[in-house]
Amino acid sequence: MKGNIFDIQRFSIHDGPGIRTTVFLKGCTLRCIWCHNPESQKPEPELAFYAHKCRSCGACRSFCDKLFTSNCTACGKCVDLCPHGAREIMGKAKEAADVFEIVKRDREYYITSGGGVTLSGGEPLLQADFAAEILKLCKNAGIHTAIETAGNVLWENIEKVLPYCNLFLYDIKAIDEEKHKKLTGASNKLILQNAEKLLSANKNVLFRTPVVPGYNDGELDDIARFCRGKWEILAYHEIGVGKYAALNREYLLRCVPPTEKDMLSIAKKTGAIYRPTGM
Ligand code: SF4
Ligand code: SF4
Repeated sequence: MKGNIFDIQRFSIHDGPGIRTTVFLKGCTLRCIWCHNPESQKPEPELAFYAHKCRSCGACRSFCDKLFTSNCTACGKCVDLCPHGAREIMGKAKEAADVFEIVKRDREYYITSGGGVTLSGGEPLLQADFAAEILKLCKNAGIHTAIETAGNVLWENIEKVLPYCNLFLYDIKAIDEEKHKKLTGASNKLILQNAEKLLSANKNVLFRTPVVPGYNDGELDDIARFCRGKWEILAYHEIGVGKYAALNREYLLRCVPPTEKDMLSIAKKTGAIYRPTGM
């Protein structure tokens, strides 16, 4: 079975325990204002343009009149034409079996570090059948499996991966529904319901919250109560900002990332798990 992915990162250390391979699936129902993977949001492949690399040679312009328009089909021909690497197609269709072939290359590292594979995104559970097939192949090969999800999907999508997923890394961004709508563009009703169902089913869940000062830090005490000790906090960062310009989108967040000291202090006060950078 084929699915749309936009990246595979080997030797990840922030997407679950140990050394992992993280597979990023395309498509998301949320639009978090701090999202550092804007290329994950649309389900289909899309064209990115890096203005700083363009030498204005004109090769792409004379070839296609769909450049910079909504009619672009992301066919990738202008990418091949550009001699300066100023264009890139973000996202491609891939067979689950081919993803597994890449994942299993690092099996020795998973064994020695307690790692495995993590499906991330975007929202990997929007492509639940594809996700389940990758996880099943990995689990049958003795590889630890995890999914990073925002949980804003039908429960039946989650059910499809339940037999093959060892760990759910489950985002909780706010408890107050109106706040959640403001920050992500969607209600959190389904997210909180699905989280409760996973806990009732005794699944291994670690809730995670990005701390975005001035936006969701007022929610942290309520989130802590909801997560009942199974909770990790992550520091907001600005790594993905440049990708917005490449995708011709505006980055609207105005926020100073929290310092290591801020994060340690929040962790101490709320009881959250926090792994300082580099650990
Ligand atoms: S990706 Fe294809 S359709 Fe889009 S601008 Fe390039 S050549 Fe034209
Ligand atoms: S082919 Fe590449 S370098 Fe030339 S104008 Fe197009 S994007 Fe710029």
